[in-house]
Order: sequence, then structure tokens, then C-alpha cells
Amino acid sequence: MLKILKLLKPKEWRQVFAVFILAVTQVWIDLKFPDYLATITRLVQTPGSRIGDIWMAGVYMLICALSSLACVIVISFLASRTSAALAARLRSMIFTKVGSFSMEETGRFSTASLITRSTNDVTQVQTFFMAGLQMLLKVPILAIGGILKIAGKGYEWTLATASALGFMLLVVACAMWVVLPIFSRMQSLVDNLNLAVRESLTGRFVIRAYNAEGFQTGKFSRANEGFTQADQRTNRAMAAMGPAMSIASNGLVLAIYIIGASMIIKAGPPSALLPFSNMVVMSSYAAQVMTAVKFITKVLPRWPRASVSAKRINEVLDTDPALSDGLLSEGISGVRGEVLFQNVSFRYPGAAANVLEDISFTARQGETVAFVGSTGSGKTTLINLVLRFYEATQGQVMVDGVDVRNYNRKSLYNKIGYVPQKAALFKGTVASNVAFGDNGRGRYSAVDVEKAVKTAQGKDFVEELEGGYQAAVSQGGATFSGGQKQRLSIARAICRKPEILIFDDAFSALDYKTDRELRNALRNEAAGATRLIVAQRIGAIMDADRIIVLDEGRIAGQGTHKELLQTCRVYREIAMSQLSEEELVS
Ligand code: ADP
Repeated sequence: MLKILKLLKPKEWRQVFAVFILAVTQVWIDLKFPDYLATITRLVQTPGSRIGDIWMAGVYMLICALSSLACVIVISFLASRTSAALAARLRSMIFTKVGSFSMEETGRFSTASLITRSTNDVTQVQTFFMAGLQMLLKVPILAIGGILKIAGKGYEWTLATASALGFMLLVVACAMWVVLPIFSRMQSLVDNLNLAVRESLTGRFVIRAYNAEGFQTGKFSRANEGFTQADQRTNRAMAAMGPAMSIASNGLVLAIYIIGASMIIKAGPPSALLPFSNMVVMSSYAAQVMTAVKFITKVLPRWPRASVSAKRINEVLDTDPALSDGLLSEGISGVRGEVLFQNVSFRYPGAAANVLEDISFTARQGETVAFVGSTGSGKTTLINLVLRFYEATQGQVMVDGVDVRNYNRKSLYNKIGYVPQKAALFKGTVASNVAFGDNGRGRYSAVDVEKAVKTAQGKDFVEELEGGYQAAVSQGGATFSGGQKQRLSIARAICRKPEILIFDDAFSALDYKTDRELRNALRNEAAGATRLIVAQRIGAIMDADRIIVLDEGRIAGQGTHKELLQTCRVYREIAMSQLSEEELVS
């Protein structure tokens, strides 16, 4: 929590200081209030008092009450302002940090947990901070001030107040002992709940089509029940505190009156006036002390949950991305669009064996290099190493003669146009999805967008949309077919005019005709760019300059289609399973 407080800016520290000053002022005013009450009691009881004096004391009491109210309003305003600013800063810091995470860190935290951390956890910290500013600064001063005032008026009252306070603290300690462990688990239970909701929402159609609602509902119910039980247990413990607090504070008032009554009887008239007015004042102080403690019991129980949340937020903020940024922004001069793998092996973090083993090849400027192999042979993993989503365990991955680790990420990605397996579209328009991000060479023009869409064979369907290039795209592109999404995703990569185009099984949703037309258009329009293509269909990569055949993470052969048919058994088997006799010999 302290670490999070360090994020406050000087202006916000000034606001915290102002809250402190106001809190002290309010306590001073609140403790003045019973003094005027005592004056009124004394004046009323004293024969010959002037009504004007009683009115005057009444006016002072009203001023005290109004000033105290004004302090409360300003304190609340400043507290909510400061805590909202802190929460906004935390959210944006988490957002930026998560943006810098590689696949490894994202996988380690899990998406559901990262969402909880940037929303619910921040809210927990914000709520505690706000309540803390409003109460925690003021309450101890009020409690100590009240006790000191009471202590000066006789040991019986002091003893009664100390006993009531002791009882209250004991109740709070017991409740904390029950809720602390539960609160520490609470946020991971929210994670589970988020995970269950996310999974059910993203997979809702599959769930429906497989009549798996019961199974998924079971998963959700377990997560929901786990959270509800924890919530109920903490609420029960907190609820039990309420009556105990009332017993203590009402008991104290009763004790003050009993002690006062015995003092009045002992003193007898006319000297009974002093103990009587003292009694009235004491009960007022006691009420203030008890209210103060009650407030503490409202804020303190939030502490464990807020502190767990703060820890979870810090975990994200303190995570240094495993893949550090390099310094270089350019490759070796004169080398453009070259991708070189030098004895590269790769193992996923925590995995038992290498997924890629001793991979070496070169893709030169303008060449088309294709990767084929059975599912799970490591094609996507290999592509991810060029994109530096992961780092090679052994060997070097070079782009334009420089190890990808030495590039600063922006410069590396300025060289690359990447089309993933699963097309990702973003909320906006067709144009904003194609002219997405920047390539370090200024904004994309409308002509760039139209040209890219045309090359990606998307012109016809885009121009038929209502609004054309300005047609709305919903989150994830829900209103587009798989093939349309893929073509927009390809257009986005072409629009970057990159040195290297990477297609990770990006033509799989296209029909054969569109696939062929797109490859022809690419050959003409993106001739200068090196193309790395992962494909399942041999027909789609037959004309590549080089085909690399992967088998269980190793290169089983590399060469042209014709060469591989002669030399590589794995390739021949794949080709024979897809092409007719005539296609094979042609
Ligand atoms: P392909 O693209 O050829 O189908 P992949 O590169 O996706 O193959 O996967 C190669 C192997 O790596 C598979 O055995 C897969 O189970 C494993 N793998 C893929 N992603 C991960 C990951 N994030 N963590 C651990 N293993 C993974």
C-alpha cells in the first residue's frame, strides 16, 4: 500500500495535507460542542441566569455544528478527488504495463486476472484510500481528544470509557481474526468468477450448439458459490460487530448516567449542579468517542482486502517484461527484408522439451518462403520468434542482419506486416481497421487503404457495405464472415508497406479462387517485400521460392516444390494427400 501511496503527485499530497488540517479543525470544533452544552445546562440550572447568555451559547453550538458539517463536506470532496485521481493513474499504469507484456507474462497472470487487477483491485484500493482519508486521519484524534477530556473529570468515568473501548477493540480483533484470511482469498475468487464468465461469453455459441450449458453453468456456479460463501462469511462477521458496538456504546452512556446519578445523590443540592452538568457533557464526549470507534470499524475491515489488492497491483507493475527492448532502430545498412535463423532452438517456458530444434534458413528481400508441416510441428512458434513474441532459447533470429533482441520493438515492428491465424478486428470502421497503428512513416492516406483492400481482394465486399470504407466494425468484427475478416486483416498488413510480410495460416478461410487471386496480387503489389507464409494447403505455396518442411520441430527438408517432391519424404506425403497425380507431375 505504501508503494502505491508513492504514486501520489505533489498536488495530491497537498490535498491529503489539507484533509489532515481540516480533520484536526473538525475534531477541535466537535470537542468544543459539549463545552457549550455544559454552559447551557449550567445556565438553565442557575437561578438568575440571563436568557441572552443561553441564546448566545446556543448560537455558538449552531456555529460549531455548521462548521463541522462544512469540514466534512470539504474533506469528502478532497478525499474522493484524490482517490479517483490515484485510481485513474493505477489503471493507466497497469494498462501500459500489460501492453508491454510478452505472451509469457500474459499467460502467467492469465487474462481474467489481469482484468480483475485493473478493475476490481483498483476499486478496492480506491475505496479504502477514500474511506481512510475521511476517517482514519480524523478518528484517532477525535478518540484521543475525547478520552483526554473525559479523563479530566473523574476516574469513574474514565474507567467506564476505557472498559467500553477495551470491549470494542476486543470485538474488532475477533472479527478481524475471522475475516482476514477470507479477505486475502477474496480477490483470487473474483479472478475465478471472471474466468468463468469470460469463458462462457467467448464460447457461448459452441456451448449452446453442444448442449453444454449445464456443464458450463456448473463451472460458473462453483466459482460463484465460492465467492458468495466467502462474501457471506465476511459479512456475517462484520454484521456481528454492529450489535456488539451498540451494546458497548449504549452501555457506556448508561454507565455514565449511573455514575453521574450516584455523584449527584452523594453531592446533594445545591452542589449537585456540577456533577449534573459534567454528566451531560460526559455523555456527549462518550458518544463522540464511540462514534469515532464505530467509524474505524467500518474502515479497518477493508484494509486486508485493499492490501491484498495493492499487492496484486504491484505484482503487475513490478513485473519486468522478460523480453527487454533493444536499442537499435535499423539493421545493417544495405540489408532490407532479410530474415535469418541461425541454429535456433526454442522451448516454451516451463515445458519439458524443445518445440523447435536447430532451425537454420535465410529469407532474402522479395523472396517467398513457405512453411509446411503437420499440426503441432512448430510453424506458428517459428513465426512468433521473428515477431519476438518469444525469444529463441538457443541460436539467433536476425532481421536485416541484426539479432531481433537488439531492436527496439517499435522499429522491429515497423519492418513487419503480420497476419495472425485468427483475424483480429477492432471496434471502429473498415478504414480504421486497415489503417491501424503506424509504421513510423506518417499517416496512411485513404488511397493507401483502398489500394491495400483491393490487393487483399476485399474491394468488392467492402464497397457493397453501407458506408463503404467508413462502415462500422463491431468489436471482433462479429458482422463479417471468416474470409472477410481474413481479407481485412491481410489488407491491414499490406497497408503498412512493410519489408517483411508474415502470413500465419492467413488464407485458410479463403476459397481457392480468391486465394489464388490474392497471391497473384501480392506478387505484383508487394513484390519488394519478403513473404513468410505458413500454410496448410500445398496449392497455396507451390510457387514459393523456398519451402521449409517442419517435422516435430526440426527441418525435414527445404527447397522448391519440385526439389522437395524428389528429396523430402514428409513433403511428398503431404503433397500426395492433397494433390492429384497430374498436379504432382505438372
Ligand atoms: P503449428 O503452428 O505447426 O501447428 P505450433 O507452433 O502452434 O504448431 O505448436 C508447436 C508445439 O508447441 C505444439 O506441440 C504445441 O502444443 C506447443 N505449444 C504451442 N503454444 C504453446 C504455449 N504457449 N505453451 C506451451 N506449449 C505450446
